[in-house]
Amino acid sequence: MHQFVKKPGRIIFRWAYPYLIRYKILRSVLEEFVAIAGGCPKGKDPFEWVQNRRFRRLYWDVLLKHRLPLAVEFEMNSLCNRRCSYCPNVHQARPKGFLDLSLYKKLIDELALYKYRGYIIPNFYGEPLLDERIDQFVQYARKVLPSSIILINTNADFLSVDRFYQLVEAGVDIFLISQHDPTPSAAIQELSRLIDKHPNLGEKINIVNWTSASRVLSSRGGLIDDDRIAYMSKTGCFRSRRATLTFDGDLIICCEDFLAEYIYGNINDQDFIQLWKLSLSHRREIFLGNYTEPICRTCAGLSPLLSERETSIRRSGEQVRVVGC
Ligand code: SF4
Ligand code: SF4
Repeated sequence: MHQFVKKPGRIIFRWAYPYLIRYKILRSVLEEFVAIAGGCPKGKDPFEWVQNRRFRRLYWDVLLKHRLPLAVEFEMNSLCNRRCSYCPNVHQARPKGFLDLSLYKKLIDELALYKYRGYIIPNFYGEPLLDERIDQFVQYARKVLPSSIILINTNADFLSVDRFYQLVEAGVDIFLISQHDPTPSAAIQELSRLIDKHPNLGEKINIVNWTSASRVLSSRGGLIDDDRIAYMSKTGCFRSRRATLTFDGDLIICCEDFLAEYIYGNINDQDFIQLWKLSLSHRREIFLGNYTEPICRTCAGLSPLLSERETSIRRSGEQVRVVGC
């Protein structure tokens, strides 16, 4: 009969296991607490308590310090067919460029080494559906990062019901559709009818009317002027937990940096995770509201309430979180 030999490593693991489990439970309870707070009671800012500086420091140092980004957003292409008044594209376009497929694969493969489960978002200020490679990009991320959440932000000008299903088939989990005309475009109307017919698709399609008077806007790092811009929380910015990459591989401060002026480094020269870790001490300061960069001091409209409102969806029987943009 086979004799099982107790390896020393196993004994240590057995001893440590209950503590690890308790740590995990404590961590998930705290995280759920933050997520639940996202369900904002009427007229109340649910993140008021998170804005307590001591809590934030503890939250970062205990829970977030060693974590991967909540979202990895990258500029798949820098072109947009629109010039919305509340977008820096209205004044100036980004330099024309496309994220190289091999650089993208290098990024995704690296995230796979860490079993990344966060958001993959192929957006900066370009329209991703203008890029014919979108299916290929999505399929690759879906295959290599099966637990990630693939989210596409689109103006829907190149979307139809058929295209929607194709992209879902490729692996997209969520579409954040921006309505930029007072009257919804034909594509948005078609998708709204689809949701009416199949309410469960409401989890996958989220339509936001950017022309609405009640829509709160960001100043895009001080580049935009609009009456609907709200002021940023002085107590800290949650955007620091997201990684934003330009098409040429620069890891920049955040998606507000349209001009890509605040650069931590480039993933052509360094591994992404290495670069992300190097940026964390600066990100911590931003998270705590110690804004040293001019862009942060002029930034508006990024209270935690706006940037980190979380809801959840059910995918393959598993409950996953969705963060609004
Ligand atoms: S808001 Fe969106 S659709 Fe409008 S110009 Fe900017 S990137 Fe394009
Ligand atoms: S405060 Fe700084 S890091 Fe945060 S969104 Fe504004 S510019 Fe970006």
